[in-house]
Amino acid sequence: MATHKKKIAIMTSGGDSPGMNAVVRAVVRMSIYRDCEPFCVYEGYEGLVRGGDYIKAASWTDVRGFLSEGGTLIGTARCMAFFERPGRLTAAKNLVLNGIDALIICGGDGSLTGADKFRAEWPSLLDELVSTQQLKPEQIAPFKHLNLVGLVGSIDNDLSGTDATIGAYSALSRICEMVDYIEATATSHSRAFVIEVMGRHCGWLALMAGVATGADFLFIPEKPRQDNWREEMCEIVKKHRNWGKRKTIVIVAEGARDRFGNKITCGMIKDLLADKNGLALDTRITTLGHVQRGGTAVAYDRMLATLQGVEAVKAVLEATPDTETCFIAVTENKITRKPLMEAVRETKEVAKLIDEQKFDKAMSLRDTEFSDQYQSYMMTTAMGLDIDITLPQEKVSVIPIVEMSTEDILLTPAQRMKVGFINVGAPAGGMNAAVRAGVAYCRARGHQPVAIHNGFAGFARHHGDEPLGAVRPFNWLEVDNWASKGGSEIGTNRELPEESGMEHIANLIKKYEFDALFLIGGFEAFHAVSQLRKARDRFPSLCIPMALLPATISNNVPGTEYSLGSDTCLNELVAYCDKIKQSASATRRRVFVIETQGGRSGYVAVLAGLGVGATAVYTPEEGVSLEMLAADVRHLNEVFRKDKGQSRAGRLILVNEKASKVYSAKLIADIIREEAHDRFEARDSIPGHVQQGGVPSAMDRCRAVRLAIKCIQQLEQFGPKPYETPEKIANDPMSASIIGIKGANVVFSPSKDIEENETDWKNRRPTDAHWIGMKEVVDILGGRPPYPHPE
Ligand code: ATP
Repeated sequence: MATHKKKIAIMTSGGDSPGMNAVVRAVVRMSIYRDCEPFCVYEGYEGLVRGGDYIKAASWTDVRGFLSEGGTLIGTARCMAFFERPGRLTAAKNLVLNGIDALIICGGDGSLTGADKFRAEWPSLLDELVSTQQLKPEQIAPFKHLNLVGLVGSIDNDLSGTDATIGAYSALSRICEMVDYIEATATSHSRAFVIEVMGRHCGWLALMAGVATGADFLFIPEKPRQDNWREEMCEIVKKHRNWGKRKTIVIVAEGARDRFGNKITCGMIKDLLADKNGLALDTRITTLGHVQRGGTAVAYDRMLATLQGVEAVKAVLEATPDTETCFIAVTENKITRKPLMEAVRETKEVAKLIDEQKFDKAMSLRDTEFSDQYQSYMMTTAMGLDIDITLPQEKVSVIPIVEMSTEDILLTPAQRMKVGFINVGAPAGGMNAAVRAGVAYCRARGHQPVAIHNGFAGFARHHGDEPLGAVRPFNWLEVDNWASKGGSEIGTNRELPEESGMEHIANLIKKYEFDALFLIGGFEAFHAVSQLRKARDRFPSLCIPMALLPATISNNVPGTEYSLGSDTCLNELVAYCDKIKQSASATRRRVFVIETQGGRSGYVAVLAGLGVGATAVYTPEEGVSLEMLAADVRHLNEVFRKDKGQSRAGRLILVNEKASKVYSAKLIADIIREEAHDRFEARDSIPGHVQQGGVPSAMDRCRAVRLAIKCIQQLEQFGPKPYETPEKIANDPMSASIIGIKGANVVFSPSKDIEENETDWKNRRPTDAHWIGMKEVVDILGGRPPYPHPE
């Protein structure tokens, strides 16, 4: 007896969000790969209720080109009928009539609430369909259990239990881009702008935009300001203006309220800022509205959507009647399954708590990243502490302007430290944001942040006590503008301390009496920490705590799964590949071979491949062989033989710059062209340093702030003058540490452990490539042999 293939349907629902198309592509193709029959439900619940042509089988080629399209190509709608039982009854009937075994729903909290209700009612809906003779008992028999999995697609990031929803980072990117534009005109005219962003019950977008752009003040629903928010805001803005800031940016979530539940409108804020008897600022309101939804998904959302789509298919295939209905979540860097019912209940609870003005409880139900970022924001921007730092005398004067918790955060003079900031290696997006956040945090605590310019090379060749030397205090007004700046404002250099002269470096650290060193950089920075740590025996002045914040587009620093700048790089690469792919599609029969950076780590190539749907990705980890090329050439020949010109998606192959000593992008393109025998074309393309990115991505900016503050907090634990007890420092493994995102956690790891156990020194990368499984996903979804390939 022939067993029937499982039918898996995918539906997008609620407000559209960038990345939904990537979900559809992943679910459709993964279903085919797992020998199931995929279906698309068009127009969300509306299509489920209407049935007929709204529920259609999907083929491999139907979802081609989906990754680079914004919105949702299978449509979405707000469906009133589904709120009522009769609507859900019809939907159940349509699912049974189409023989759908499993339903994957991608939508926001409303859609998943509806899904949860549908799931709970399912047995009674089937009973009713039988008792009202709409269906026969034998028709419902195979569908007794509703196999349903949720994916959170929403720009609001408002579902409890997951750090990010599909589309949230794309919307955040759009907001940051808009705020960056507005900042330029605000500075030119010395204006104030009140910017309203989406978020009725959830202030994630507003908060992250505030963190990423260094806004002067923000209003979010979960955490209303003090009762005297009017005075507080005006005082902070006045203080910032007194520092010399020529722009004022206030970000308001659309659901912003005061502590008594009264709505705070942009108009109210504008009136305050513009008040002739007060600040008298030329103030404008900008409501960003639907541009926040628009456009294509950023690389992160494409990755999240694809991996979660794949996970959803696995979840429905593994589900038994006893399995709790789940949704796919992400915690830091780890994709997990979590109970849907609990997440829906908690999400509703947050909205209810906000309505009841129980804000602290509401805040506690948000994820840890949310409260971390709120604290980061308060520490770096809103606290408004003015600390005058002068070098070399250790004079610190503090003028607190807001009473709130200033005492809690400001350390006594005896507890304060002098922290050296140094960037090492190539520039990476987010380096400046990290320095800015670290400096702001130091100011709030009363520490002395000091810039060491141009890495260890600059440090070694400093000009003594000259004010413009390589070692000098930060000018806060200047630093405050670094939130969105690319590159490295304090300069960076690849030179290692041993090359600069370790004795010289140790003497300089002693001379400047640094209590701690905060390093930001890539593999060289990691290597530098290792050298400094190992030289402590010889030079006791190196017995100071050091913390490394990994920052490199290659994401090859051991001890972390994420380095600052890698997200910016991926966005650049994905945007570049989208354009190339468009050109390849226009000419129809062309393959582009694109060379990516990444050193000896294939991370960037693979993740970009995931984001653009590459036909193949060549990595240094795997290498390139003649067999591999031959198989891919055969595959391409087959693809173009079957493609009668109806396909509008070009083909891309991504090759890491060090994947092979012999097979360069150019040579690979030449081989493919030669073997294509005029059936199709092949070209190579090298984006080069474009991959470092211009303006850092929203994610890199936000993570820079959060991780930089954690680094300074880590250094703080050692207190001032650590060099007076060199042995204590030398014996403490955490005195030289690396901050990293590892799976679901943000952790500090001792540099020594990572150097000895997790580092492939020869290839300058971690021994374990956490992302290697993603390469398989690229191959499966790109239809690369040896997988079943129905092109
Ligand atoms: P966004 O986060 O973008 O607002 P969403 O999924 O929350 O997306 P909603 O408009 O709230 O968007 O919900 C989408 C659809 O889900 C509704 O039109 C309705 O069909 C269904 N739905 C929402 N809530 C429920 C509910 N409580 N019961 C049944 N169906 C619901």
